[in-house]
Amino acid sequence: MKELQERIRQEGLILSDTVLKVDSFLNHQVDTKLALAIGQEFKRIFAGKTITKVLTIEASGIQFAMAAGIALDVPFVYAKKKKAVTLSESVYSAPVHSFTRQETYQVSISQKYLGPDDNVLIVDDFLATGAALVGLVDIVRESGATLAGVGCVIEKSFQEGRGLLEAKGVQVHSLARIASMSPGHVDFIEDEEL
Ligand code: 5GP
Repeated sequence: MKELQERIRQEGLILSDTVLKVDSFLNHQVDTKLALAIGQEFKRIFAGKTITKVLTIEASGIQFAMAAGIALDVPFVYAKKKKAVTLSESVYSAPVHSFTRQETYQVSISQKYLGPDDNVLIVDDFLATGAALVGLVDIVRESGATLAGVGCVIEKSFQEGRGLLEAKGVQVHSLARIASMSPGHVDFIEDEEL
């Protein structure tokens, strides 16, 4: 997605060889028009899959799952990182190790909102080590739902996430794929669909 690549080039801060800060437009302050355009792009990429639900993980996947849900005209669900007192019913859960926070936490989704009748598109802001998305894929499979695929806004292709997901038989589409980066410089992989 050219517009996204441009924004990353203009506003992204590369803090190290592995960490990209995009909080001026993507995951702290959010450019709402860009988020909605990202939702439309996911709709275009996954056209023909008859998706019934979009799934993400709190917090920074929510705006893109909502945008994809609006574009596809389906609900979205976000996995919670802490079990809320209101989440009293049965849940699906999986452990996730956070790359940015260096801690392991449990993600959970109420069993009421995911089941065998669903065809799920998983969406997230970043694909890095893949831990968060592997956790969500495991939850979808546990629920008996069908997994249509995974859509990521930014993929750091030099990290292992895509490989882990593909090894699980998951179709991955990312809107900006970073081959390599260093302070002041970013190289994208140019996929045909971008
Ligand atoms: P994972 O390593 O599980 O693929 O990434 C989990 C989460 O860490 C992502 O959804 C994203 O919120 C965050 N993350 C991973 N790499 C980066 C990065 O380079 N920059 C930012 N801002 N967040 C990241």
